[in-house]
Amino acid sequence: MALEDYRSDQERCSHCSYCKWIPQDKIKSWRFAQGCPSIAYSNFNAYSARGRFAVAKAILDGKGGYTDRVLDVIYKDLGCGSCDVSDKVCRYNLEPLQNILELKARAVEDGQLLPQHVPIIDNLIKEGSMMVGTVKANRSDWVKGLDVKNLNNEKAEIAFFAGCRLSYDKELQKIARIAIDLFNQAGIDIGIMGKNESCCGSRAYQMGYRNEFTKFAKDNIDTWQNAGVKTVVTSCSDGYFAFKRLYPELGSQIEVLHTVEFLDHLIKDGKLKLTKSIPMTVTYHDPCHLGRQGEPYIPWQGKEKKILNQIVVYDPPKPRYNGAWGIYDPPRDIINSIPGIKLVEMERIREYAWCCGAGGGCIDAYPEFSAWTAGERIEEANSTGAEALITACPWCERNFLDSVTTTGQSLKVFDIIELVQQAL
Ligand code: SF4
Ligand code: SF4
Repeated sequence: MALEDYRSDQERCSHCSYCKWIPQDKIKSWRFAQGCPSIAYSNFNAYSARGRFAVAKAILDGKGGYTDRVLDVIYKDLGCGSCDVSDKVCRYNLEPLQNILELKARAVEDGQLLPQHVPIIDNLIKEGSMMVGTVKANRSDWVKGLDVKNLNNEKAEIAFFAGCRLSYDKELQKIARIAIDLFNQAGIDIGIMGKNESCCGSRAYQMGYRNEFTKFAKDNIDTWQNAGVKTVVTSCSDGYFAFKRLYPELGSQIEVLHTVEFLDHLIKDGKLKLTKSIPMTVTYHDPCHLGRQGEPYIPWQGKEKKILNQIVVYDPPKPRYNGAWGIYDPPRDIINSIPGIKLVEMERIREYAWCCGAGGGCIDAYPEFSAWTAGERIEEANSTGAEALITACPWCERNFLDSVTTTGQSLKVFDIIELVQQAL
């Protein structure tokens, strides 16, 4: 798709500002009613989905151009998709998130790069990793000492994909190690691609770097095909989003599961028995790319027609993706199956969840905005009385951990997989 494909959406934005909030019937308090971190932080209309429709239209019409402020509007965006869910309530099937993603891709195509993103993409091209300073030679260091097949010279139909954050973040590598340990305990025949695993490309895609995304996606697809892999399991929500929604457009037919889906099956099938009590009150954060953007999505390609030169109809009918079919129940079922644990919900959950702040390259380019967004979620978690905030994405966990450490809060932060290990 291209920015031009969303011209009709840009023109049909009714300036209602619904995209700035969660839907009205889901609001439980004024304090946690906002949905879009970008407009909430910047408090200027351009930093909303509505504003980004206007910016996209201006660029297509050749008006304005890329000033510093315009580039700030384009890139200070988390790609979280909250606007897309709210918009579906008021305008049925406009796609503000796709417009934003295409806007970033157009800026990159036009050579309007954000300087803070350049070293990240350089590292991606050189070392296959989105984490500056990390090298390909160390990609599988996290697995040292574990009993797991190397699928470059051994056979298994299921591959575990660690991703950049879990491969290199020393504090979080334990998540990938626990995943392998749990699969071993359940008797699952699983392996890894080791140094032949490359970045999924998801974050590059979200930052507008389409060529780089395509290159690394094709590398991974080829590597899995050559190894005879049928299913890929990942603990990273960004990776999950790419494999599930973007890779099929490049021909991938590989089954994709997030670790929470796989573990949920293993627990329900009795292959993992959670017997130890964890007497703790927890709340769960839905990662954007596992939740609302984790639902199956096929870009609509058709023609728009007008009835009476006014009412737009789609031929063929355009599906309405509102985030409702993301991965919401498996993580909650896992938590609820742990003896002694009590799950209390935040006000904004499931497809209406507030973003962690790490998306769209903002954690690297706009650390203050990213930290503020995480801080808002921490405050929402604290308001439930929970002792711990649980998530299922290493990028969320990184941002939340940094937030509670910096602000000296007592809230604990865990990946759900750590609770499963403790309860065995
Ligand atoms: S909710 Fe949709 S139609 Fe309304 S202002 Fe936002 S982008 Fe425009
Ligand atoms: S993707 Fe998220 S940050 Fe960007 S406009 Fe939509 S709600 Fe706001």
